Amino acid sequence: MKLYAPSTIREIKAKYGFKLSKSLGQNFLTDKNIIDQIIEGSGIGENDLVLEIGPGIGVITSEAASAGGKVIAIEIDKNLIPILKETLMQHDNVEVIHADILKTDVNQILKKEQAEQVEKTGERYQAVRVIGNLPYYITTPIIMKLLEDGIEADSITVMMQKEVADRIQAHPGTKAYGAISVAVQYYCQVSQVVSVPRDVFVPQPNVDSAVLRLNIRKEKIVRLKDKDIFFRVVKAGFGQRRKTLSNSLMGVKGITKENALAALQAAGIDPVRRAETLDLEEFAELSNQIYERL
Ligand code: SAM
Repeated sequence: MKLYAPSTIREIKAKYGFKLSKSLGQNFLTDKNIIDQIIEGSGIGENDLVLEIGPGIGVITSEAASAGGKVIAIEIDKNLIPILKETLMQHDNVEVIHADILKTDVNQILKKEQAEQVEKTGERYQAVRVIGNLPYYITTPIIMKLLEDGIEADSITVMMQKEVADRIQAHPGTKAYGAISVAVQYYCQVSQVVSVPRDVFVPQPNVDSAVLRLNIRKEKIVRLKDKDIFFRVVKAGFGQRRKTLSNSLMGVKGITKENALAALQAAGIDPVRRAETLDLEEFAELSNQIYERL
């Protein structure tokens, strides 16, 4: 049985009375080539621990299980749990957890798996790889949760709506550049694995997609005096992106015009520039200067 074939989805629907849920972002992948590119692009090795978000009927999961050491798959739809039991039957290194990824303590799961592996083999998993074809309605919250929680993983390789992928990897001075670009690039080195047309999904969404690989930085490339203030500055800057920084920074709670101008000057940033022209280092320096003045 080809798990990824559209006919399999039809068979599963008939056998289990399963109904695809639009509100859970269920657009299932039906292209083996794209599945292979996700697995290869994520760099899963045989001694790696894989965490998959939203396995659906298990098309990516089963390939990850063949490539990796162990796969933990987190799926919110309880109707998919018995289906996954059947479709992943021949893999003894997969564990499916019925949970909402946004409410899951991922590090606790990873820690437990690493401890079990050490007990079994004397060594930790070589790398921890997060993968998935993300539900589009919560792509950004999922990515930001993992990064803000300080997930103990090496990379996150995930499919998302093309527009979101464009925003995440955007450079300063472009229309797509915004708070999400700065936030993700602060935590990760970003690259695109493949762009994906809409016609490889069932049902077909009305947007195209892309797979990004986010390599989580072990060492940050900028030094922040206060991460919270950095994110507040980024948010304020892009919150009113058409305004000059001397005006948009007034969106930072507690700041005065005088302090904003002094911080801009100390950071060597012209106050008539807009947030969308600042690179990561400039945002870092500006927020460090604001920190000194708040
Ligand atoms: N991986 C499968 C594939 O590529 O065919 C399914 C991908 S589908 C785009 C997204 C999957 O995420 C669905 O199975 C959906 O039920 C699941 N999902 C949606 N919201 C979730 C959440 N908050 N936590 C965990 N899984 C979720």
